[in-house]
Amino acid sequence: MSPTMEIQYPTHAASSFIKKQMTKQQFTQSVHAGSNLANHYGALSTPIYSSSTYAFPNAEQGAAIHEGEMEGYFYGRIGNPTQETLESALAQLENGEAAMAFSSGMAAISNALMTILDSGDHIIVPTSLYASTTGLLKFLESKMGVEYTSVDATVSDNYLSALKPNTKAIYIESPANPTLQLTDIKSVVEIAKESNLITMADNTFASPINQNPIDLGVDIVLHSLTKYIGGHGDLLAGAVIGSKEFVERCRWHTNKLLGGVIAPQVAWIAHRGIKTLAIRITAHNSNALKCAQFLESHPKVKRVHYPGLTSHPQYELAKTQMRGFGGMIAFEVDGLNEGQKLIDSLNLCTLAVSLGDVSTLIQHSASMTHASVPKEQREKAGITDGLLRLSVGIEYAEDIITDLEQGLSQLN
Ligand SMILES: *Cc1c(COP(=O)(O)O)cnc(C)c1O
Repeated sequence: MSPTMEIQYPTHAASSFIKKQMTKQQFTQSVHAGSNLANHYGALSTPIYSSSTYAFPNAEQGAAIHEGEMEGYFYGRIGNPTQETLESALAQLENGEAAMAFSSGMAAISNALMTILDSGDHIIVPTSLYASTTGLLKFLESKMGVEYTSVDATVSDNYLSALKPNTKAIYIESPANPTLQLTDIKSVVEIAKESNLITMADNTFASPINQNPIDLGVDIVLHSLTKYIGGHGDLLAGAVIGSKEFVERCRWHTNKLLGGVIAPQVAWIAHRGIKTLAIRITAHNSNALKCAQFLESHPKVKRVHYPGLTSHPQYELAKTQMRGFGGMIAFEVDGLNEGQKLIDSLNLCTLAVSLGDVSTLIQHSASMTHASVPKEQREKAGITDGLLRLSVGIEYAEDIITDLEQGLSQLN
């Protein structure tokens, strides 16, 4: 029996949509992707290879392996078999040719950007973007002379208007952090293809279970494995997924020099997380939809941003490019004080940044994750003072709702 059938969905158009879209492939692939029994003495869980270095068979082959001309391991900064298992699983889940895992999501994003962009190149990014990615672009601008333009990514043509002769790449984050705004991935890819630009998409919020940007034409997918893929809030890691040629450039060119490699112990935990990814995401999707519906019906909540609600301005788009709507919700209460009052009165929902954890986490974007973004720019990106970001966990949905209800009842 499919695991989806054991989860009670609310009666809502979106829930039957999720049920229809989740295929056998996501569930079976999560459990088995990356495993290679023959290479590891039949071990179902690929062992942790904690060796820094690997012996060469002889001088000639040693020279070939060292230069990447022959397959084989030689030094942990390039890769190791535990990492390879994780990378192979990630490539399969995202329908990419190859993947590389990194020490954090930011290590993956900085590596991909530095592999693509030379000094003087221009990139177009969404205004509503993971705050450290915006920080990284500023850093690359001042240190390396890379140019970037931020656009409202809910309107695809804004990417077109921002094109410059030196534009090299287009960056997508959909759903975006923390506003849950969507980008029409297919139409942005079309714009990019017409000008021979590279497209990259941060797919952390959706996870590969809910959305596969490569299937929509995107060249490079980025992930913070720290979130849904690890899933248990016990690791930091990231990944780049794309063509074999691009991934090998990230590995042999950029990361050989930058060194932000994933530790084999962490690669092992991340791969273990993937085995339960589809079933966890199904629970996140289902719980988040119930919480979003509850919040939308509550008088103290001014607005709820969740792509699975029919009130989301891009609900129809969400249905065309996502299989499920994810576990992330943003909602607005009446200003900063009310927001802080609410998060201080919750018991089950933990006040913490990060997301994608099995536990429900809540945070206040304006004073936490996006505090580094100036107020005017924050508001332009839709981050009002009363905006709270909820990462719905896999607890029993009614328990999460009960906690939100008692917190909201304490507001004026
Ligand atoms: C967390 C996150 C990152 C950065 O990942 P780290 O693992 O924290 O370095 C990038 N993009 C998004 C959307 C994220 O949520």
